[in-house]
Parts: sequence; structure tokens; C-alpha cells
Amino acid sequence: MERCNECIKCTVEQCRHHHNTKNYCTLESIQVGTHEMNPTKDQCTDCMSFAVK
Ligand code: SF4
Repeated sequence: MERCNECIKCTVEQCRHHHNTKNYCTLESIQVGTHEMNPTKDQCTDCMSFAVK
């Protein structure tokens, strides 16, 4: 059974770090960042640890 990090909830099933059956990340930690000059809402932030499956 793959381990998941219950401190990092995530629903991005297309990411290779996503748990197969639970909505958690399997990494020990993730990097969060932004693609905006001046972020104002949640959509402005990104998981920089995402990697496509
Ligand atoms: S690396 Fe980011 S996008 Fe991928 S499963 Fe973990 S939290 Fe989700």
C-alpha cells in the first residue's frame, strides 16, 4: 500500500505524486508558488511539485 501524507490533501489525480485511492499527496513536503505578479485569489497559486503521470 502506497503511503500518503495526511497533512497534504490533494485532488489532482493526474499528478504522479497523488495517492491512487485517497485524496492525499504522497510526498513528504511540497513547494507552493504563484504564476502571478500580484496574487489575489486561490487560483493564482500553484503546486510546483506537480509532475504529470
Ligand atoms: S505534488 Fe502537488 S499536485 Fe501532486 S499530488 Fe502532491 S500536492 Fe497534489
